[in-house]
This record gives sequence, C-alpha cells and structure tokens, in this order.
Amino acid sequence: RPLGYAIVGLGYYGLGVIIPQFKNCEHSRLAAVVSGDPAKAKKVAAEHGLPARSIYSYANFDTIRDNPDVDIVYVCLPNGLHAEYTIRAARAGKHVLCEKPMAVSVAECEAMIGACKRANRKLMIGYRCHFEPNNLEAMRIARSGGVGRIRYVRSEHGFVQGDPSAWRLKRALSGGGSLMDMGIYSLQAARYMTGEEPIAVTARESTDRKDPRFKEVEDMIDWTLEFPSGALGGCLSMYSANQNRILLMGDKGRVELEPATRYDGNRIWTGKDGREQEVTPPPGPGKTQFAAQLDHLSTCAVSGREPIVSGEEGLRDMRIVEAIYRSAREGRTIRLTSGQRA
Ligand code: NAD
Repeated sequence: RPLGYAIVGLGYYGLGVIIPQFKNCEHSRLAAVVSGDPAKAKKVAAEHGLPARSIYSYANFDTIRDNPDVDIVYVCLPNGLHAEYTIRAARAGKHVLCEKPMAVSVAECEAMIGACKRANRKLMIGYRCHFEPNNLEAMRIARSGGVGRIRYVRSEHGFVQGDPSAWRLKRALSGGGSLMDMGIYSLQAARYMTGEEPIAVTARESTDRKDPRFKEVEDMIDWTLEFPSGALGGCLSMYSANQNRILLMGDKGRVELEPATRYDGNRIWTGKDGREQEVTPPPGPGKTQFAAQLDHLSTCAVSGREPIVSGEEGLRDMRIVEAIYRSAREGRTIRLTSGQRA
C-alpha cells in the first residue's frame, strides 16, 4: 500500500505546494494533517477524504503515534520549529521528511539525527532539486566530463522579501536571513554540481540595517567555497533582488541553468562560450520533482535504504552555513574539516 504522510503546517508550502502533489505519487498518500487552525484543518481533511481522527493540533501531535495510517511526518513549519517536530515525530515512531533548512544550528541537526537513529526511523531533508530533471542532467554532464574539468560553479538565489512581518525575517523562527532560505539552494548546488565537499569558506554580508525588514536578519550574503580539486564555488543569496541561476564552468565548456531551481519552468543550456545549445533533459524519477521526493522516502522507508538526501546531508550544509556566518562576522576565511564542526 502507499505510505501515509502527515503534513505538519498548512501554510504556503505544505498546503499550497505539497498536498496537491499526492495525486502524482505512486507510493505515497495524504493520511493526516497537523495544524494550529482547526477550521482550516477540517476543511482540508474534508477535501481529501480524511477522517476526523486524522486531524491533529500542535498540542495533541504526539498522539499520532497511535495512528497506523501515518508512516511519515512531513515538517513544513518555520525553520525554528523543524528540530522540535522532527524529534517529536521520531519519538512517535514515524519516519520524517523535514523541509530545508534542516534546522537553525548544527546542534539541532545532530539532535534530530540522533532521535531518528534511536527510533530506527528514516530522516530525509526536502532537497527537491535532487529529483528535478534539469539539475539531474547538469550533475550528469558534470560527472561525465561533458564540460571537462569543473573549475568554477556560480550559484545565485534571491527574491524580494516584501513583507516586513514575515517569520522569515524573525530570527527566532528563521534562524537567519536569506542564507537560511534561498542561500541553501546556492550552497547545495555548489556541492552537488562539483560533487565535492568544501575545505574553506570566505563570506561577506551586506545588509541595510535601517531597512525595517532587516532588523534581525541579513539581506545579502556572498561567499566563496574552496574545493579539494581546486574548483571554486561562488555563491550568493539575497532578499532584495530576484535571481535564480546556476552556472558551471569547465575547461571544455559550460552548463547554465536559469531559472535553475524553481518548481517548474527551469531551463538548461550548454556551450563552449555561452548558451549555444538548450538541452532537453530526460524525464526525472517521478511525475514531478515533488512527487519523486515524496515517493523516494516512501520506498526508502519500506526497503530500509538511506534517502539520497538524508539528515547527514542537511547537517553537512548546516556546518557550512555556520562557517559562512562566522566568516562574514569575523572577516576571515574559515577552514572546514569534513566531519567536524566548523
Ligand atoms: P508559511 O508561513 O506559509 O507556513 C508555515 C506554517 O507554519 C503556517 O501554516 C503557520 O500557521 C504554521 N506555524 C505553526 N507554528 C507557527 C509559529 N510559531 N509561527 C509561525 N507559523 C507557524 O511558510 P512556508 O513558506 O510554507 O515555509 C515552511 C517551510 O517550508 C520553511 O522551512 C521553508 O523554508 C520551507 N519551504 C520550502 C520550499 C521548497 O521549495 N522546498 C518552498 C517554500 C518553503
């Protein structure tokens, strides 16, 4: 039978993006909703044929342990709540899919991994680009040597954050500014396109602290990752301009993705000097990147395999995120030792 998901947080992503994707899944179905808004939860449950016993509040969430319809809990809450709900889900005996960023600190990520290990449950991070056809094609080209030796990856993500009251601008809920949001895509791409782990990072921040949006968190961060092969990763995240682009530069050619990591409409080109040839990537692993992501964890939960984007993968990013902030703060290069704290 398809595995049952409980969606925690009926906001923009959980309700607007993820719930409509179950119709595209083969191995996953919606089994429960968790919300602080009983009327909204009731409406969503009715629309999807869920019984009243499959509606949870944040207060009675732990009783989800007694619901055999729920195999996996998908945490779609503000970043500052990811650790708490992942750990509570694992203690309730459920596998966990947790949205990006995994949490707001390395310590939280380690606690989440520990809780899932102790409960013998899988933990996966919502890194949907690993299921997105253009990104997969770019990774394939890079790994196959199609553009020669990769020397440089440029990855830039941003959007104009217009709402000064957004939780994304409150440190307690977000853990940080654009780096904790779109910056994760830039960082992830630099790692999965090179296939390498960075050994050092140098970062600079630029934020207009007089702007009412940026009282608590940063607007713009630019950072350079140094990889063992000598390749560099130039990454940007910002909340004051729209940008969504990845560029791979090899000694025999280039791969360019723009937009690179959107929900749909992504495009990819290769060429020696520019965008000579648009590439039509082969179909991805599922009907959509979201369905593929949901089904991947379902099949891992059944087979016992580790998800390709596990908690450890989220932890690797968070170690680098902490180093990026530290580098910007201290104005110096931070060396990274793989497997150790930055
Ligand atoms: P949102 O504000 O639209 O939704 C968050 C939900 O959490 C809301 O329903 C809100 O009511 C609920 N919530 C519970 N406790 C809360 C509290 N104390 N304060 C504020 N809200 C609370 O946010 P979103 O855009 O859906 O983002 C949710 C998560 O999903 C974030 O971690 C974000 O990074 C991630 N996300 C991922 C993608 C992606 O493409 N993978 C896209 C968007 C968002």
